[in-house]
Order: sequence, then structure tokens, then C-alpha cells
Amino acid sequence: MSTDAPTPRRITVNCPTCQGPALFAPENRWRPFCSERCRMIDLGAWANDEYVVPGQPVEADDDIPPEGMRH
Ligand SMILES: [Zn+2]
Repeated sequence: MSTDAPTPRRITVNCPTCQGPALFAPENRWRPFCSERCRMIDLGAWANDEYVVPGQPVEADDDIPPEGMRH
């Protein structure tokens, strides 16, 4: 149930794109996304015809840069 010593190894977060579990660890280079695909979708690569996302209206939040991608 609860523990006073959280293990930082297997932290998962909800992927911002697909809301699925995404491993939040250095081994997941796409964190906080679950995969490259979800990350690219969030970055807007879907518009390049490279990634097809049927039935997914996308609203770009340009005011909120992804973590680690601040300019
Ligand atoms: Zn995802």
C-alpha cells in the first residue's frame, strides 16, 4: 500500500498524448511520453503526414512548452 521509501525505478506517468502509462526513467528517452510516436504527435509532427492520427482533433498549446523543451 504505502511506503516511506518510494522506489524511483519504476515511476510511470500518464502519457500526455494517449494517456497510457509511460515509464518516467532515463531509459525512456521519450518521457514523459510513452513512445516516440506520442512525443512526435505532441510536437505536431502529425501535420507532416508522417504520423496519422484518425479522429484526433489537436489543439496546440503554444503557451505551455513541454518539460525539458523550453526555449
Ligand atoms: Zn503515448
